[in-house]
Amino acid sequence: MAEALIRVKNVRKVYRMGDERVIALDNISLEIHKGEIVCFLGTSGSGKSTFLNMVAGLEKPTRGEVWIGNIPIHKLNEEQVTLFRQKNIGFIFQAYHLMPMLTAIENVSLPLIFRSVDKKKRNKMAEEALAAVGLKGYENRKPTQMSGGQQQRVGIARALVGTPKIIFADEPTGNLDTHTTKEVMELIISQVRAHKQTLIMVTHDRSIANYADKVVTIQDGNIINVEVKGNED
Ligand code: ADP
Ligand code: MG
Repeated sequence: MAEALIRVKNVRKVYRMGDERVIALDNISLEIHKGEIVCFLGTSGSGKSTFLNMVAGLEKPTRGEVWIGNIPIHKLNEEQVTLFRQKNIGFIFQAYHLMPMLTAIENVSLPLIFRSVDKKKRNKMAEEALAAVGLKGYENRKPTQMSGGQQQRVGIARALVGTPKIIFADEPTGNLDTHTTKEVMELIISQVRAHKQTLIMVTHDRSIANYADKVVTIQDGNIINVEVKGNED
């Protein structure tokens, strides 16, 4: 098998709050291959978001290494890591994190501004991304003029526009009902598969795990189980 795309080696993260130490991640090691869909499953407080933040370079591990390809994420400074993220990573959040003053198409265009795509091309790409998530005709809506499921579709279009190599999703369906959860998950998976992207999602919702190639159970900052589902292409 080819070398892993993402390599996490003995990552530990300890937060200090006054005299108290919180071990958010104890000792995590894991490899993720290109095109894999991985689901991190764990209860609230088990370290899921901390893990994602570590891999995305949003926070530095207390100890250990995070490699994406040949880039040592744990060693990059803030500017380097921001550039890397803008170029290579798309994010989907539980609370959508759309800009309230911007329309759907403007929200989806944002990541492309950071990638220096010109305005005409940005609009075209954003329009296509919105159409791909079933939101043709919603280009000029503001977030408050859309349902939760529609807002998350905009969030997905924003994460996927320009096809970044890696998609991170933190509780992507946490604010959605069961029916919309199914729709949104099927959409994320079909888009990610179509573009052979790598998806890392974290959730406490066991039903989400069914969509993954690999299910990693995390408890108290440690991986306690890895299940390979073998439905990868
Ligand atoms: P999850 O996403 O699985 O709910 P988190 O990764 O957010 O869990 O948190 C793991 C543990 O680390 C929790 O005990 C949480 O309270 C703690 N924690 C997370 N972020 C911080 C922080 N910035 N400062 C202190 N403790 C934190
Ligand atoms: Mg979390």
